[in-house]
Amino acid sequence: MNFAKQVDVHKAYFNRQITHDLAWRKKQLLQIKKLVTENEQLCLDALKADLGKPALEAWITEVSYVAGDVDHMLKHLNKWAKKRKVSTPVVAQPGRSYIQPEPQGTVLIMGAWNYPLQLVLAPLVAVIAAGNCAVIKPSELSPATSALLAKLIPQYLDKKAVSVIEGGVEETTELLTYPFDHIMYTGNGQVGRIVMTAAAKHLIPVTLELGGKSPVYVDKSADLTITAQRLAWGKWLNAGQTCIAPDYILTTKDVAENLIIALKKQIKSMFGDDIKHNPHYGRIVNRRHTERIASYMGNGEIVHGGEVDLTTNYIEPTIILNPALDSAIMTDEIFGALLPIITIDSFDAAKTLVKSREKPLSAYIFSKDSQQTQSWINEISSGSQCINDVIMFNAVPDLPFGGVGPSGMGQYSGKAGFDNFSHLKSVLYRPFLKDLPVRFAPYTKLKFKLLRLIRHL
Ligand code: NAD
Repeated sequence: MNFAKQVDVHKAYFNRQITHDLAWRKKQLLQIKKLVTENEQLCLDALKADLGKPALEAWITEVSYVAGDVDHMLKHLNKWAKKRKVSTPVVAQPGRSYIQPEPQGTVLIMGAWNYPLQLVLAPLVAVIAAGNCAVIKPSELSPATSALLAKLIPQYLDKKAVSVIEGGVEETTELLTYPFDHIMYTGNGQVGRIVMTAAAKHLIPVTLELGGKSPVYVDKSADLTITAQRLAWGKWLNAGQTCIAPDYILTTKDVAENLIIALKKQIKSMFGDDIKHNPHYGRIVNRRHTERIASYMGNGEIVHGGEVDLTTNYIEPTIILNPALDSAIMTDEIFGALLPIITIDSFDAAKTLVKSREKPLSAYIFSKDSQQTQSWINEISSGSQCINDVIMFNAVPDLPFGGVGPSGMGQYSGKAGFDNFSHLKSVLYRPFLKDLPVRFAPYTKLKFKLLRLIRHL
């Protein structure tokens, strides 16, 4: 197994400046859109096979998400790719200064299995928009989507610029030995560390889209019906396998009682009584993850749900009250259909608890108290935040997406993605006009005085 030739083809192509051309970039972006729209049913089928994804869910969060990303990028690409003028101080006059975004080269994109189409194609939109080549390595844990991407990408995109390598740890380990110009990895933090260590060898910049435990605080002022509806949607979308899903809820005891009642109502209204046979509810990706999630059932009191079927990787939407804070369900990222609710004494106690833990990918608060929400925004560091809803910031293409600290580094979506995969090159252009001799030796006291004066102009 050796991918050196493939990477070399992309590197040589990149050096011919073909991918720098804006018309080439736009054509490829349109082709990405065509890929998902012309093969919509194939995409939905693959996502159903990998994760039992309901068609509507798969369409919103993967197929149409990618198409929308292309539209947004095409709308703004001319502006974002332009040189960005900055002012030139007197010391550098006469002159013109600007930032010239330039492509980085060949980017390795490694996707995760939970949104297996979106998590490689959305980064690819940004990578191509910025004028790069790409090697894509979809997750081996979503084999139907991986195979579909391996088939369709060479049919739609410029083969010399973009290629797909399927496989798992062995292939990835090999790929990580090559001198890519940027590595974009989505997945867990443990592998994130492997990726960053490998990248360090060649000093390759990395974008790490990782996970973590995204907390939710629900205040007594919140509208519990709306809160429960939004929480139930965000938690059980893709059966809980969403990196920005609400991981656990913090609230006071009196609110918890009513919130549980409201959540139960929403579960019934969304998924009915026979959830196991309901096509509007997804499956856990494989048996290993089903067993892992099921093992958390013993932590805390199950106040709703609890059914597991290992043969079909089914886990019922489940609410667990007050597991110990040091139990596995409260230390691991759940990434599945279990929702712990922890009762705490106050809003301050909730903030203290969240701040004592690793910075999450997202953090949520449901409250009508504007002072409280502002203090949450100010004090809680997380990749993104949503007030009175969950996940929906991801539907705003101009909001950068990414983690902070252990939940990741680097951002994409819209302009943030374009900038992330560009090098923002600084350029100062100076004409051949004779300089004032102040900066040249011999250094005199007068020159010193003049320089001090100029510096403040
Ligand atoms: P995964 O198992 O699909 O792994 C991701 C990628 O890493 C795959 O391409 C895989 O082949 C590769 N990989 C796995 N083990 C490796 C190894 N030892 N060496 C080199 N490469 C290896 O996905 P996962 O990690 O189970 O994904 C779930 C995690 O991803 C969760 O923590 C979730 O929060 C996070 N996630 C983050 C985002 C985000 O955008 N921030 C999105 C989705 C998932």
